[in-house]
Amino acid sequence: MTKTNEIPYKIYLSEEEMPTQYYNVRADMINKPAPLLNPGTGEPMKAEELEAVFCKELVQQELDNDTRYIDIPEEIREFYKMYRPSPLVRAYCLEKKLDTPAEIYYKYEGGNTSGSHKLNSAIAQAYYAKKQGLKGVTTETGAGQWGTALSMACSYFDLECDVYMVKVSYEQKPFRRDVMRTYGATVTPSPSETTEVGKKILAEHPGTTGSLGCAISEAVESAVSREGYRYVLGSVLNQVLLHQSVIGQETKIALEKYGIEPDMIIGCCGGGSNFGGLISPFMGEKIRGEKDYRIIGVEPASCPSLTRGKYAYDFCDTGMVCPLAKMYTLGSGFIPSPNHAGGLRYHGMSGIISQLYDDGLIEARSYEQTEVFKAAVEFARVEGTLPAPESSHAIKAAIDEALKCKETGEKKVIVLGLTGTGYFDMVAYQKYLDGEMDDYIPTDEELEKGFATLPPIEG
Ligand SMILES: *Cc1c(COP(=O)(O)O)cnc(C)c1O
Repeated sequence: MTKTNEIPYKIYLSEEEMPTQYYNVRADMINKPAPLLNPGTGEPMKAEELEAVFCKELVQQELDNDTRYIDIPEEIREFYKMYRPSPLVRAYCLEKKLDTPAEIYYKYEGGNTSGSHKLNSAIAQAYYAKKQGLKGVTTETGAGQWGTALSMACSYFDLECDVYMVKVSYEQKPFRRDVMRTYGATVTPSPSETTEVGKKILAEHPGTTGSLGCAISEAVESAVSREGYRYVLGSVLNQVLLHQSVIGQETKIALEKYGIEPDMIIGCCGGGSNFGGLISPFMGEKIRGEKDYRIIGVEPASCPSLTRGKYAYDFCDTGMVCPLAKMYTLGSGFIPSPNHAGGLRYHGMSGIISQLYDDGLIEARSYEQTEVFKAAVEFARVEGTLPAPESSHAIKAAIDEALKCKETGEKKVIVLGLTGTGYFDMVAYQKYLDGEMDDYIPTDEELEKGFATLPPIEG
């Protein structure tokens, strides 16, 4: 299709059009996400208990199921202006290549130095930590994007930043580590000997390449055992989805500017934060009965928490130091195959996304990594943008849906979240291009081993 209508390749918003409030989809949800539980007592976590681990104001946001809009502080909005609004791009070239009547739009979050949407929440979390007068924050990072984003945010607000990086990524992505160090962060491969829980995990699983669950345990221990530090998390939590709502709000404003009505909103799911942020305002309309959309979450077949997991209370981390969360999960003992190249390695899923999925408001599907990279390469070759492997799960689903439209002749409007750049994932691209990438789908038996680590809690 040639560019025959008024819609430009890139729809940008002005600074004035950027959202000034976060949108809290929980206010519109009929069934709220289940509360976090204290692993000792099985009772819902109180604010005071959470404040030992997390920043005070973020705890308020975490527990707030009622306030629909929360003001974005001026300091955060100023930072957003350095790299937002992000463009909503019409994938004209991909449409033409696929010869589809569908319209495809992607919201591109990879244009900042951290290379992903994670900066949207990192800057908010660093701001609230600074406001509380803390010395620094600790965190984990998997593929490295969150650690990078947090390092940038901490250097902006002059906070210390200690990052526990999943060992397999630390080894595969040395440049990620050095970007974090450039922004002044300390980076430790996890599991490590620097924490009690790290030592314990190493003793039980010698030679392990780590997991996000392990790294979270280490980062939490490192925060709670020192004065003036708190732990921050880049996904899964309600507060993170709240901050990421800037993605969905900008997308909605941009679409409305040109009178575009989406039929389908597609995002990739690791812990659910970009997907939750992208879909939030659309989901609000869907729940309130104002509009209807198909909303599709895409995950890797090697770490299939929505499509093959259980909806149950689980530990958020391997060391079982965090509160229990009710979510679609593979069990905190599930460690994804080290063959799995493309991020999205977390065993669980955001409580908000889990509840919406359980309520039938979201569809989920999974893809194997070679078909995801095939879609990534196809996309890169026609659209120019080199996508992150995580984002490419959404691209794969969008291509499949556009090809269905080609069969049926339907002119659907597809919006997808393109969460990041693939520049730091060239080891994975290299494997794919050399034909050395294989697919790994856990057997039911392997999943059972993960489920066996679920705590015996009803709910
Ligand atoms: C972290 C990350 C994801 C997955 O995390 P969510 O919390 O599910 O959004 C997806 N894409 C990129 C580029 C990421 O860095």
